[in-house]
Amino acid sequence: MRQCLFIGFSALLIACNSNPSDPQNEQQTRSSNGVQARWSIAIHGGAGHFGTENLSIEQQNAYRLSLTKALEAGGYVLDKGGNATDAVVAAIALMEDDSLFNAGRGAVYTASGAHELDASIMRGSDRNCGAVTGLQGFRHPIQVAMSVMEESQHVFFSGHGAGEFAHSTGAETAEPAWFHTQKAKARFERALERDTTQEKFGTVGCVALDSEGHLAAGTSTGGMTFKRHGRIGDSPIIGAGTWADDRTCAVSATGWGEFFIRSSVAHDIHARMLHAGTSLEEAASATIHQEMAALGGDGGVVAIDHWGNPVFSMNTLGMFRGALIAGGKPVTALFANEKIQP
Ligand code: ASP
Repeated sequence: MRQCLFIGFSALLIACNSNPSDPQNEQQTRSSNGVQARWSIAIHGGAGHFGTENLSIEQQNAYRLSLTKALEAGGYVLDKGGNATDAVVAAIALMEDDSLFNAGRGAVYTASGAHELDASIMRGSDRNCGAVTGLQGFRHPIQVAMSVMEESQHVFFSGHGAGEFAHSTGAETAEPAWFHTQKAKARFERALERDTTQEKFGTVGCVALDSEGHLAAGTSTGGMTFKRHGRIGDSPIIGAGTWADDRTCAVSATGWGEFFIRSSVAHDIHARMLHAGTSLEEAASATIHQEMAALGGDGGVVAIDHWGNPVFSMNTLGMFRGALIAGGKPVTALFANEKIQP
């Protein structure tokens, strides 16, 4: 029988491993000792090579505030006894409306100057899932992905068909102007000058454990600046950018999508736990630092195991991230070597 105890955030240490070979980067060990969190949620707002010199204090504070609000939105759902998928949607929908992130409003431009949005969600209890790619004109791609999971017989819709499906569910539409931000436009123009895809990250993702012991994961993104029309990254691909299985963990990835697809990052972490009995922390670290990084990719994951322990792993200098556990306070971090303090 599952042990269901209320625990404060201080009862947990969050594993945050950015690069095991770098002594500056702390690698903490979970100390759950079999204690089950009543509920737990963790998020990311993208990974990238940024340090304190790239973000003013005001910008850092703005990111921390946005992450905190998203954690609170998801935590509110979980605290009321809501399920993990609803919490994931609540947290991600808020970040999709926040122009700080590369998802929904604030999404990056494609090479043809459009916004093609990707999102996916997965439920750990039955491994049902839903995803959309190349979605245009809808405010909350994560809600459309949720509808794919809950209201269709399919798991993945693309482009025009994704839009048709979204319309049929009554999903909220948005004009192109809604998605426009000066920041994304400037990146597009820089990429246009160089005629190259930019590895500017900012995808959003969320993993959650609800009070029934079920896990869920979701991811939403505009992809990569100047991506070619029709390019699909890892974020909407179940097993690459998103995975949830109550037996093991929930994972949401962010980074250079092609490499995350080639390493099946999210599923690889789950498989290590399921088949080799590896802890989430070790599994995430091996997949990111050995499998994915060995191919030349970069990025990270946020994950939660079935005990509710959040784990963050990345090989970039930074990843916008945070966690909230029942009875605790939201905690956030931006830089790889920043410890998430309970
Ligand atoms: N993984 C996303 C993609 O390749 C980008 C990101 O996470 O920032 O589309």
